[in-house]
Amino acid sequence: MEQIKLKNKYEVLTDVQVIKQGGQIVRFRVENIRRILAILVSDDILIEELMQEIIDNIDQNIITTEIISENVYNTLINAGLDLQARQYKEKALSKRAYYQEQLNVQTKLDQFVGGDKQVLNENANKDSRVYNTTRDLTAGVSAKAIGLRMLPKKVANAHLKGDVHYHDLDYHPYSPMTNCCLIDFEEMLQNGFHIGNAEVESPKSINTASAQIAQIVANVASSQYGGCSADRIDEVLAPYAELNYHKHLKEAKKWLPDEEQHEPYALAKTKKDIYDAMQSLEYEINTLYSSNGQTPFTTLGFGLGTNWFEREIQKAILQVRIGGLGREKRTAIFPKLVFTLKKGLNLEKEDPNYDIKQLAIECATKRMYPDVLMYDKLIELTGSFKAPMGCRSFLQGWKNDDNEEVNSGRMNLGVVTLNIPRIAIQANGDQEAFWEILEERLSIAEEALVYRVARCKDAEPENAPILYQHGAFGTRLAKDEDVDSLFKGRRATVSLGYIGLYEAATCFFGPNWEHSKEAKEFTIDILKVLKQHTDQWGDKYDYHFSVYATPSESLTDRFNRLDRKKYGSIEHITNKEYYTNSFHYDVRKDPTPFEKIAFESEYAPYTSGGFIHYCEYPNLRQNPKALEAVWDYAYDLVGYLGTNTPIDQCYECGFKGDFEPTAHGFKCPQCHNTNPETCDVVKRTCGYLGNPQIRPMVKGRHKEIASRVKHLHLDDDVSELLKEDSNRALNKETRMRILSHLDKY
Ligand SMILES: [Zn+2]
Repeated sequence: MEQIKLKNKYEVLTDVQVIKQGGQIVRFRVENIRRILAILVSDDILIEELMQEIIDNIDQNIITTEIISENVYNTLINAGLDLQARQYKEKALSKRAYYQEQLNVQTKLDQFVGGDKQVLNENANKDSRVYNTTRDLTAGVSAKAIGLRMLPKKVANAHLKGDVHYHDLDYHPYSPMTNCCLIDFEEMLQNGFHIGNAEVESPKSINTASAQIAQIVANVASSQYGGCSADRIDEVLAPYAELNYHKHLKEAKKWLPDEEQHEPYALAKTKKDIYDAMQSLEYEINTLYSSNGQTPFTTLGFGLGTNWFEREIQKAILQVRIGGLGREKRTAIFPKLVFTLKKGLNLEKEDPNYDIKQLAIECATKRMYPDVLMYDKLIELTGSFKAPMGCRSFLQGWKNDDNEEVNSGRMNLGVVTLNIPRIAIQANGDQEAFWEILEERLSIAEEALVYRVARCKDAEPENAPILYQHGAFGTRLAKDEDVDSLFKGRRATVSLGYIGLYEAATCFFGPNWEHSKEAKEFTIDILKVLKQHTDQWGDKYDYHFSVYATPSESLTDRFNRLDRKKYGSIEHITNKEYYTNSFHYDVRKDPTPFEKIAFESEYAPYTSGGFIHYCEYPNLRQNPKALEAVWDYAYDLVGYLGTNTPIDQCYECGFKGDFEPTAHGFKCPQCHNTNPETCDVVKRTCGYLGNPQIRPMVKGRHKEIASRVKHLHLDDDVSELLKEDSNRALNKETRMRILSHLDKY
């Protein structure tokens, strides 16, 4: 009887609205009260009685969170639960104090100087022992506190609570910096540019061109906070290699009497120049330190060129990477290499660049990079072909006023990520509540993203001359021109990120939902809703809002940690200490690579602002054909695929393979070596590779990597696995193609 009465009352209360501290208005949810009481009181009947009283006390249709707090407190006191009332009040006070603390520059600086681990490990790419990194981190701590005060209050509160994550607060909005971009190298190299006091002329050789690229990268990396990429670098550099060739040919004609030798001589010399140029480019990028105190997050996209120069550049990039860095031949983790597969160019045995595909496969088995872009699928998903900006952010197809497709010189203005698992936890089994809370969070995300754009527009060309005045952003602006001319009309993107589709579905369907059609549809529907919203925002504001599979290098830890604190340890959700990235398959499970790719491919149409798929392999050096089979399989399904394979090396005992995870890092399984000086440990932290032994990751990310299991095993017969792939009817042509590469018709 009591239960029924309550239920009626709940329904009546659906009309009640709550004004939250940041000013957001949401529907009153009794579940939230029940959750608070459940932490304070263990007796279920008592909880229901208290709830009844709290609800009876609500006599207005619009109330503030302060009124609800008073109500809960008084109800506990009236019930003689003084201790619980005090605990409740203290919790509320400490939460408020915590928020205040986050906005206080002095307190944050004190914590940083005091050696707060969380601050130090926030960025896997930063070595916090180094002076300029320390300076950058110190500035970041202050910028974050100031930035939180600048944000709309609703957004700042939602960020601090962990409902959403406003990325890169250590730079933005304190500074109106942009996020990541495709640098317009073609324009800059052709027309020259300024860096600092120097005027740099168009290069006369590939060696000078690649040296200039490294300088541009260093400068761009210091003018934004995200990654920068070179699109189609083989094609951009080829004209400069051709200059080398003509110079050598001239020399040959002058010094070699035998005319037959002229061309071979010039080609051999040019080939050597190309190799040297690519080697110094890799070396220079790895030795660069941007003013952000880190090696610039750089990506080189290549693979579509077909002439002799372009092909030689592609081969050199791969050969240099295979060769390794320095005396110990360590794996270079920068620049990230992204190779393009394309039907008719390099996919099939009879294609002109098939040999380079083979080299790319060899490189991936030995050094993990290159990741691969699938030419046709990428155009289908994003509207044009181009390399990702940074590790996985994709521009969407766009044409200028002359109806020309433009990619290089465009940029992203930042990311705000939704904590999807939290919404599912709060919905407590009620799907209707889930969609409703998602709507509320989306309205915060909208405000946050609109603010990001508005703040970027505050920049003046002189704030970042390399970007706005000297060509990196494609159009050279005068000092007094408006930077918005490079953003608006959907030239720039701004991203709505998400995390934890796995955990969200687990809340409703249990931990092994991957084969449930209903559960899968639920997760796809989440992305559909996000996409509907970003499309609407695009129409409303005319910037390209896109749905983005957030890399969540440290967010995987932060959101999970906040939710564990708030909702306790929930099996398969918060107790793992990490949230699963975006749409990824639960890392603890072992579908075949084919199953994993097919499973994830269904999300691809709704997350075109950024994505990457990867599979975990055993050592593939002896079995490169297995990797080729996966690449071929993926070609028609996904746009962008990475390889994770054990390439760790121990210089103490000579071990090569997978280092074992320990509580904090990794050790050699043979001699237990953990010394970064005498081992090379390379793991994929997100879209980028990292050296966790040198620069430790946040705990949650470490836990996630330690939980990963292989999707392929040394004794697997790939063609057998393919036959078992019943998930998806591969068309006959594709199946034949894959099998032909395996030499198994
Ligand atoms: Zn060892």
